[in-house]
Amino acid sequence: MMIIMRAGASPKEIDTVVERVQSFGLRAHISTGEERTIIGAIGEGKTVYNYMDQFIRMDGVDRVVPISRPYKLASREFRPDVSVFPIDGVQVGANEIVIIAGPCSVESRSQLLETAHAVREAGAHALRGGVYKPRTSPYSFQGLGEAGLELMAEAREQTGMPLVSEVMREEQIPLLTRFIDVLQVGARNMQNYALLHAVGESQHPVLLKRGMMATIEELLMAAEYILSHGNRRVILCERGIRTFENSTRNTTDINAIPVLKELTHLPVILDPSHSTGNWSYVSAIARAAVAAGADGLIVEVHPKPETALSDGRQSLKPERFAEMVQQVKTIAQAVGRDVAPVPAHQTSTQAQ
Ligand code: PEP
Ligand code: MN
Repeated sequence: MMIIMRAGASPKEIDTVVERVQSFGLRAHISTGEERTIIGAIGEGKTVYNYMDQFIRMDGVDRVVPISRPYKLASREFRPDVSVFPIDGVQVGANEIVIIAGPCSVESRSQLLETAHAVREAGAHALRGGVYKPRTSPYSFQGLGEAGLELMAEAREQTGMPLVSEVMREEQIPLLTRFIDVLQVGARNMQNYALLHAVGESQHPVLLKRGMMATIEELLMAAEYILSHGNRRVILCERGIRTFENSTRNTTDINAIPVLKELTHLPVILDPSHSTGNWSYVSAIARAAVAAGADGLIVEVHPKPETALSDGRQSLKPERFAEMVQQVKTIAQAVGRDVAPVPAHQTSTQAQ
């Protein structure tokens, strides 16, 4: 349930309500909006509603309402304002579109640095690069692990871009978070509840990709795991779902963007690379995503896609990526938005 405080309720009144929520063994999640504070009281099942009357007459309380959706903290009911949070100086969820780009996998120093500089030049805000790869075949390249993280750190040092990389197992979190800014939970792990719990306890932003056979509600329930363990910074990512259609790797569920924007306050981005599986469709779907209201994109870029150790077929060459960014900018402006500016960065190379 949501305990909606009056506009101007005092901190003491808020604290007293929070203490009472906790005294019933419920968890209190505080959302401080522009006008008023909402306290989410979350517990198991419907028992939470037995306590509703306990709050109605408390000082500072305006009203108490149930949250009708199965996901609570992720819902717009709980938080009507869009969640906006910074990833190293770039605001995600704001009116401006954020672009994350880079190779599917970190393969070598030259491959990563070349890509990083090229995407930065073209206007990307963050660098992606997998070092732990969830591959269908155990005989395919599995990622460089820690050595790849060292390379990512070098790319960050040279370009100033924050880093996004996939976590596959809980044990990888301490190492990954020493190097990177955003933990990606991949499609195959969207319902790995132990992993969701663990990233929920980390204070790093999480990029949660939709499972290839997950409904929108299941995606939101997965986000709820992360939020309910205390981590508020979750970015949702549509990356295509499996359908009977086999002319593309996946089917981009473009509907998911307006649907998610209606149901949740969390930022929503789209991955046109995995959702099409073919570089020649990537720009078209990136444009469609922005037209449909996405808050950002995550795009695979490789300097020599034909030699890539993973997902070369769907990777854009840097010059195509630069064209895509320009096209996306035009579309963003046509719908009253823009692409976020690239923050100025004094690179260590420039500083010398
Ligand atoms: C990836 O981003 O390289 C990846 C494996 O994506 P997904 O989990 O969406 O398949
Ligand atoms: Mn990939």
